[in-house]
Parts: sequence; C-alpha cells; structure tokens
Amino acid sequence: MASLELIKKLEETIENVPDFPIPGIQFKDICPIFLQPKLYEEVIADLADFSRGKIDAVCGIESRGYLFGIAIAVALDVPFVLIRKAGKLPPPFVGEKYDLEYGSAEIEMKTGHLKPGQRILIHDDLLATGGTTEAAAKLVAKQGAIPAQFSFLIDLEALKGKERLQKFDAEVYSILQY
Ligand code: AMP
Repeated sequence: MASLELIKKLEETIENVPDFPIPGIQFKDICPIFLQPKLYEEVIADLADFSRGKIDAVCGIESRGYLFGIAIAVALDVPFVLIRKAGKLPPPFVGEKYDLEYGSAEIEMKTGHLKPGQRILIHDDLLATGGTTEAAAKLVAKQGAIPAQFSFLIDLEALKGKERLQKFDAEVYSILQY
C-alpha cells in the first residue's frame, strides 16, 4: 500500500534507540515524524486509505495511538474513541486486563461511545507482542462492536503480534516491518 518513497522517508526518520527503556529493547522513536508536517500528512493519508469505506469508528490506544488515530478518524469522517490506561477515565467504562512480560496491565474505554455492530479500526503506533492490541480488541467486542481492522506504523515481526491477532479475523496493516 505505502509507496516505496514513503517507506524510505519513514525509515530515515524513525529513530532506533538501543537498550531503552531496558537492556535488550530496540525502542522505535516516532517523534521525529512530527518535525515534518508533510510527512505526517502522508502517513495519515496512507493509513486512511487502508480503512476508507471499511469502518464506522476508530479506537486509538494510549498514547501514541492517539497521535495518528484521531487524524485517521477525521480524514474518514468517523468517530474516534480513546482506549486509556486504567484509572484515568471517569465512569462508566469497561476494562480489560492483560499480561505483560512481567506482571499485568489494564486498559479502559468509555461505555456507550461505540454502538453494537459497528466495524472498528484499532490503531496503535507499533505492534510488538500484540498483547495491548488484543486487549483493545476484546474491549471493543465486549461492547458488541466488531474489531474489523488493525493498523500500525510499525510491526516488529519477530515478536509475532500479527499471529496473536489472527483470532479476530480482521485485516492487519503496518507501513513498516522490522
Ligand atoms: P505489545 O503489547 O507488546 O504489542 O506492545 C505494544 C505497545 O508497546 C505499543 O503501544 C508501543 O507503543 C509500545 N512498544 C512496544 N515495543 C516497543 C518498541 N520497541 N519501541 C517503541 N514502542 C514499543
């Protein structure tokens, strides 16, 4: 989907930070994209193309999923719903716990913002193990909506997140794969 030119520009722009936040992690820093408004626009256009005509709403995962997710929703003229880390949303909300490598985490979403039967794009900046995105899809399904698409700027393929998302029978798209 993405042009080779866009892929190349992103590869040059996204910074790889070794051993952050802990030894062994290759952290992908997407912040330099925001120093180039035209490049940001191209990324949104590409992500919006993937979802055009296929979804009724976008859910973005805190926090970098908001930076692109809300712009995709505006480009497609559909609602945007925030998926937040636990403890930040006023009630009513639904929550979903999931396992991390060490310990566990929880995400939450307002109830009533998604409608039963709506087809949902779940967006985040990066797919690693897929644990966060899987929990987000369960939150969407808990409300009777359909996780129809997943999109990311980056897929860290070795961590097999895409395989973990197969159970949702949804389309998965990433601009860059490492
Ligand atoms: P996971 O649940 O393992 O798929 O992790 C995905 C979430 O963690 C996303 O919200 C990413 O922003 C963040 N993340 C995981 N690994 C990295 C990485 N190597 N570089 C940047 N962000 C990461």
